[in-house]
Amino acid sequence: MIEVFGENGILSSLNGRFEPREEQTRMADFILEALCDGEGCFVEAGTGVGKTLAYLVPAISHCLENGKRLWVSTETRALQKQLLEKDIPVAREIIKRLVGREFRYELCMGSANYPCRRRFESLLERGEFHRVELHWLEELRGLFDRGGPLSRFDTRMPQSLWSRVSRESEACDMSTCAFASHCAFQLARRRWQQADVLILNHYLFFTNVNSGRTYLPAADVVVFDEAHSIEDVASEQLGFSVSFSDMMEIAERFHRRGRRKTILSRIGRESLRKKALGGHEALFAELQRFFESLRDLLPAGRLSHRLKEPLGIGAEMMTAYRGFYALLDDIYEQMDDDESRAEFEIARSRLFSAVQALSSAIACEDSDWVYWLERGETELLGEVTVKGQPIDIAEIMEREVLAQYESVVYVSATLAVNGDFSYIAGRLGSREHRSLLLRSPFDFKKQAVLLLNREEGGPDGDSFAGDAARIAAQIIEHLNGNCLMLFTSYRMLEIVRESLAGMIDHPVFAQGEYPASEVLERYLEAGNAVLMGTHSFWQGIDLPGDLLRGVIMMRLPFAVPDRPPVQARMERIEERGGNPFYSFQVPAAVLKFKQGFGRLIRGKTDRGVVAVLDSRILGKGYGRFFIKSLPECSIAYSVPEMKRLFQALPAAGGKSDET
Ligand code: SF4
Repeated sequence: MIEVFGENGILSSLNGRFEPREEQTRMADFILEALCDGEGCFVEAGTGVGKTLAYLVPAISHCLENGKRLWVSTETRALQKQLLEKDIPVAREIIKRLVGREFRYELCMGSANYPCRRRFESLLERGEFHRVELHWLEELRGLFDRGGPLSRFDTRMPQSLWSRVSRESEACDMSTCAFASHCAFQLARRRWQQADVLILNHYLFFTNVNSGRTYLPAADVVVFDEAHSIEDVASEQLGFSVSFSDMMEIAERFHRRGRRKTILSRIGRESLRKKALGGHEALFAELQRFFESLRDLLPAGRLSHRLKEPLGIGAEMMTAYRGFYALLDDIYEQMDDDESRAEFEIARSRLFSAVQALSSAIACEDSDWVYWLERGETELLGEVTVKGQPIDIAEIMEREVLAQYESVVYVSATLAVNGDFSYIAGRLGSREHRSLLLRSPFDFKKQAVLLLNREEGGPDGDSFAGDAARIAAQIIEHLNGNCLMLFTSYRMLEIVRESLAGMIDHPVFAQGEYPASEVLERYLEAGNAVLMGTHSFWQGIDLPGDLLRGVIMMRLPFAVPDRPPVQARMERIEERGGNPFYSFQVPAAVLKFKQGFGRLIRGKTDRGVVAVLDSRILGKGYGRFFIKSLPECSIAYSVPEMKRLFQALPAAGGKSDET
């Protein structure tokens, strides 16, 4: 790999501004060696290592030379975009020189991102659209006629209309579809088959697992970038989530009052039609009653309620379901065209899966699963969702991931805790593992000040929010804005936001007010502003240079222990004789804390302050795991000391090249 990443290497010849980094070469060498041995590995690479090329080059060259296919999976769309627009084109140039041939790559997306010609034609034929929607449909026809690859991203059609013309896997049968030979999805799949490298996301990876590994063409080597999030994504994708709105959506697929030509109203035999309409009404009335009784279990103000014992409700709903479901074969017999049958199959299969999920939750069917009721944090009076997921995904990962591919490589800026990868490897079912930890090549001592709050009283004290807001205000004023405040709950965010009003002279934008991307846009437009966010902001924000001068963490990011999936994981560890606090809560919080810290320094000329206002970092024994997980930087214990150290940092220059 020195031939690529070393002094006067291929990368230098492609980019005159490229600066060789020892860490990058080491990472590429390490991965190549693991792949050549037919093994996988874990690599933590701090910001600035150039980790994307450091896994792309060895993985692609190894696969090309050995006739293997590679999948690269990311969590966020931002990284996927960066891969496609920036890193893959560079990797292609490198590989051309290194291996002497080009590689083919494709982006793979979930079904709903591709248009279905059959649904499109049927929608036009039925004429069930508004006149204002016609121009979008005409545009889509033009795109179909143009031929070639086609996806959601080729049109700005509103989502409500797109969902009526996008592919639905349950109804897609190539062998009977008249449009299969020029279908955008089938074309995409043929291209995937011919590609050497497939780019996907973790959600699609586990959708493929759920499909029995039939959605994507097989691979030999998988690289998971942003691998720190796999456990959460896998648990979510392998589990289920059903709300009353989901059930209503399914109900309306069968029949909706006021709409002509529904599946049920089109039944020719009158006696069956009446029976079906009656059964449909009875089922959805029972479902409504069922969800209302669930709501009583989750009073306003509570966000979740774990289901530990069979609930003893839902019998009427199940009876109504069985009554309606028993009619479905007869209804199918009455369908006289392929389009109606396809629509019907989707409705039937979605109804079946949703009711199975509800019934498994109310019966607490599987002791290896956790079931609970949940209400979104920003919708306290909103609807209740029934959720379920496997408690521990280690065995599933062993069976469905490690056993299926020759090598699985996990890469992230945050995988190790105190220099050790056992936590993440254990959670992901990897018993033996090679690992490499590479610190960021940035000089944090010259770039960042870490302010640790040692004021009395932890984050649960009555005065915490007010005190923290006061310290935050001083930091924000000193840095003249451009600060990110990270919270672990919306409640705390709201309290601090209120306290801050009047203390600072900078516009504040908070997650929840607008969609996350819009909050970020407003923050950037305003300049010298303050950005407040919870969960996804700890890892999803990339604001290089002067766009971010301060990161203020209100609390250490421990997962809420009474959140059912967290609680269930902790109980499982305890049952197996482990200590859930030290073997689960602390390491998980340390990884999130490192993600939060990593928001600040994105380039070698950035500088700024990270403040941790939760005094437990100094007052509690476990605090040392958090501090030791960070790169060495100047530490301040008070705002005046922070100001002094910050002023003493060498002045920031221009932007750095992160290739
Ligand atoms: S093959 Fe499937 S996605 Fe393609 S047009 Fe036919 S039904 Fe739609």
